[in-house]
Amino acid sequence: MKSLVLGNKKAYVEDVPDPSPEKEWVIVKIESTPICGSDKTAFLSDTPVRNAGHEGSGIVVDSAGSVLLKNGDRVILNPLSGCGVCELCLTGNYIYCTSKPPFATHFAQFVKVQDFVCTVLPEDISYDTGAMACCALGPAFSSIKRMNLKAFDTLLVTGLGPVGMGAVCIAKFLGARVIALDTVPFRMKMALDVLGADIVLDAADPGARAKIAEAARPGRLTRAIDASGNAAAERLCIDAVEPGGIISFVGENHNEIPIRPSEDFIRKGLTLMGSWHCNLNDRAEMITLLRRSPLVPKLITETFGFSRVQEAFEKFMGGDTCKVMLKPWQ
Ligand SMILES: [Zn+2]
Ligand SMILES: [Zn+2]
Repeated sequence: MKSLVLGNKKAYVEDVPDPSPEKEWVIVKIESTPICGSDKTAFLSDTPVRNAGHEGSGIVVDSAGSVLLKNGDRVILNPLSGCGVCELCLTGNYIYCTSKPPFATHFAQFVKVQDFVCTVLPEDISYDTGAMACCALGPAFSSIKRMNLKAFDTLLVTGLGPVGMGAVCIAKFLGARVIALDTVPFRMKMALDVLGADIVLDAADPGARAKIAEAARPGRLTRAIDASGNAAAERLCIDAVEPGGIISFVGENHNEIPIRPSEDFIRKGLTLMGSWHCNLNDRAEMITLLRRSPLVPKLITETFGFSRVQEAFEKFMGGDTCKVMLKPWQ
């Protein structure tokens, strides 16, 4: 089968053996596999990476090892893996499982995946739309669930990469008011014109902080999601959200940021959380979102076959995209 290799700013196809079945795992023929922001690291790596790509959807072609799925089931491939038996896995939070078995690339024509992390994709939802349940919608979905976002709320979204766009998409599905920030004109325009964000501000504008406060009136800004992973934006969320509010960090940032326990939390009553991917027990609601939101398919701005994968990554790295979809059989 064909599988992708990334590294040294190159993306190319190589032939590798097909995966073989195993107990509690299934073989899925991949139909759609989007590029994730985190795949940038593999593309820029100075050594070849063969395990990038962790989002996708496809059809089960070998279910001999599974009692949960059967051949012909269409499935969403939720990212990464879990042991399947710990408390986190059993409560749907497998993403936080600390004993994950090895995970194979989804940038391939076939993949061997754990049956319990798959979500069955109904016939009326396309593979492309189904694949949006991975990193485009997953991190924001669990944030929005846990912060109990309602139509009456105003949500600040900092960072309009695919994860931030996913947050805008879900918030608008729920009828909330959205203030979004970024610096890339393409992304700002897409959030405003395509996804229906109410107000989009330039994060580089020194007056952005004051404009956020103004944009939230009448009412209060009580919810924020940072999808940028930028320390200044994370700090902006803490400063801009009003007393009693809830903030979720979903943009990866491996560095420290300043926190003042008294001013930020004790005397302001803020709640700060992080979220990596949605809970598997929310599958039914995720499917409803995919089915009912006309905005979800619009998150995909480009589609490339594996035969044009170098072009796909160059386009993605340029920043003027949202989700870039790869097609392993084209
Ligand atoms: Zn991802
Ligand atoms: Zn586990």
